[in-house]
Amino acid sequence: MSCNGRDAVLPGSAIGVLGSGQLGRMFAIAARRMGYRVHTFSPDEDTPTGQVAGLEIQASYEDLHAVCKFASGVSVVTFEFENVPAETAAAAERCAPVRPSGHVLHTTQHRLREKSFLSGAGLPVTPFRRISQREELTAAAQELGLPAILKTADFGYDGKGQYRIKSARDFDAAWRAVGEREAVLEAFIDFEREISVIAARTIDGDLIDYGAVENQHVNGILDLSIAPARIPERMAREAVEMARAVLDRLQVVGVLCVEFFVRKDGRLLINELAPRPHNSGHFTFDANLTSQFEQQLRAVCLLPLGAVTQLRPAAMANLLGDIWKRGEPDWCSALQAPDVKLHLYGKLTPRAGRKMGHLTALAETAEQALVNVQRARELLKNDGQ
Ligand code: AMP
Repeated sequence: MSCNGRDAVLPGSAIGVLGSGQLGRMFAIAARRMGYRVHTFSPDEDTPTGQVAGLEIQASYEDLHAVCKFASGVSVVTFEFENVPAETAAAAERCAPVRPSGHVLHTTQHRLREKSFLSGAGLPVTPFRRISQREELTAAAQELGLPAILKTADFGYDGKGQYRIKSARDFDAAWRAVGEREAVLEAFIDFEREISVIAARTIDGDLIDYGAVENQHVNGILDLSIAPARIPERMAREAVEMARAVLDRLQVVGVLCVEFFVRKDGRLLINELAPRPHNSGHFTFDANLTSQFEQQLRAVCLLPLGAVTQLRPAAMANLLGDIWKRGEPDWCSALQAPDVKLHLYGKLTPRAGRKMGHLTALAETAEQALVNVQRARELLKNDGQ
């Protein structure tokens, strides 16, 4: 059957997800609700996605035969983890449509390629220098100034593979921290706040966005998101326009998140791109008519996009493994507030710093939602106060 003149992947079909974390889990929940089957592929078993999917394939991303077999069993392949090797995406593409396509992965999984693409498109990025040898740090640090942050060029997320350089004495430790391989030295931005924009694009170029969301990180990991962001309307529009330009330029079919730094003078800089649903869009599961996960499903299945209407202001608080420090969190107390929603990802071991779940609070204002979600998270901690 055709949908807008395209051969859509219809409900009842199987969708393949490369990766098996919480993003795939929430995608699978959205897909199952609409009657799709979900297959997931990753090196792990009993995974957050696998627990919800109909089929969990455990194999290495380097096993290209297994990747092709997996892709042959589904109508379309998408991913929830952008750091799959390029050869894996290429192998999947030989056996099924992959959306967004491998070239989007190729650009966004490597900081240098990503920054070159963005600056080539005339979009503002954090000042940076390519570092391929330890000796290059001295000149680059002189040009950019200190402090600066050294980041691995590939396979970085949540502040992993990063080292903050305060003085020349840190060069050796920083170079070791990125594994003595190709890296990017970035100027340290003394930002006023961080925001992100999540948008979806169809194969025909239709775009929809969730507006600007405000994000607070702790130790490089997202801690809180506030939607809508508490920024001037004009700034939110500017961020949205930039995000839309990124999806268009990359010809994304699916969902992509653009993370920004807001400088103290109000200028925006793009920090990084994620070519998939993003932690800062988890609130859309409860607060919007169509979540970022359903939107990804619709886009990759060539269905029309759904309305993004936000029902009420919202705030999201991540639940890291640290919350389990004093034993089982006090779910009952945290859920006393009826406008707070709990999401847990089915991970068995609550390690410190590991994303185990999140809470979303809806309220009359974003400020109130933020207060409520933080209060609920405090109540979880079981510290007897
Ligand atoms: P990333 O994984 O590169 O997004 O970094 C995670 C977080 O570290 C960001 O969201 C910021 O809070 C912080 N960070 C990363 N790069 C910089 C920078 N150049 N200047 C200031 N803070 C940064």
